[in-house]
Amino acid sequence: MSIRPTIETRAAMPTMEGAGVKLHRAFGFQDPTELDPFLLFDDFRNERPEDYLRGFPWHPHRGIETITYVLAGTVEHSDSLGNTGTLGAGDVQWMTAGSGIMHQEMPAGNARGQMHGFQLWGNLPSSQKMTAPRYQDITSADIPEVIDDDGTRVRVITGEFWGQTGPVDGIAADPQYLDVSIPAGVKKTFPIDTYRRAFAYVFEGRGAFADASSPTGVLVEKEVAGREIKLRDMTGDRTLVRFGTGDEVTVQAGPEGMRFLLISGAPIDEPVAWHGPIVMNTQAELQQAMRDLRNGSFIRHPG
Ligand code: FE
Repeated sequence: MSIRPTIETRAAMPTMEGAGVKLHRAFGFQDPTELDPFLLFDDFRNERPEDYLRGFPWHPHRGIETITYVLAGTVEHSDSLGNTGTLGAGDVQWMTAGSGIMHQEMPAGNARGQMHGFQLWGNLPSSQKMTAPRYQDITSADIPEVIDDDGTRVRVITGEFWGQTGPVDGIAADPQYLDVSIPAGVKKTFPIDTYRRAFAYVFEGRGAFADASSPTGVLVEKEVAGREIKLRDMTGDRTLVRFGTGDEVTVQAGPEGMRFLLISGAPIDEPVAWHGPIVMNTQAELQQAMRDLRNGSFIRHPG
């Protein structure tokens, strides 16, 4: 077994999206090869309704998948296939845009004004960019949660983990999408197949991931909850952690415990031509998408 080193940690950046939604972007619109097959990750946790209620009104997507995971509040969605629905706390929507979809995503928050969640974009390989669009709406109750003896909890949204299989199916990039909660001081190792590219996004508490300076695990300076931890290396809220090659990730939670998404997928390794919500392989395909939008032929699979 070899531990994947932390090759970069960075804070998500404040960004404005949609019709004026304030969110934090961990990656996207920079180097699309960095976390191939993933293109973008937005953290839309927000406590101020005026900063999110304008939402993401009607817009197109082609060539990608968008994965929305709601922690608190609700998101109303509707699309050009005639689907409508509401995502609530713990729910996931896995939207395969394929050849083209028009949709809107309108955050509504909860009674306390909270709207918490994440959106990930996964790329599609050239062979599936023009596939029929599809939604998989997964309610919280359908997402298996595994609890280890040390109190570590893992919600398996997609992929296989600790004998559980997430409910999303038929995804090109073969992703594994886990929501991991680790109690204070607990050190944990997660296997991730070597061929995958992997990142974590920390969103509660703090913890220390093994890195190049402590390649065999997490070094130690101080006792926390009966276990030792190196406090100066801890990674906290709204931080992206990119991992290098290896076949497992090791992390130790800090004094408040920690919660993070652990996401990995098989790189697609194809050229990327990207314009806003449309991601193709070539400029010619992007231009075709723009023509299709102008002349009303963007939607090829009416419901
Ligand atoms: Fe969208």
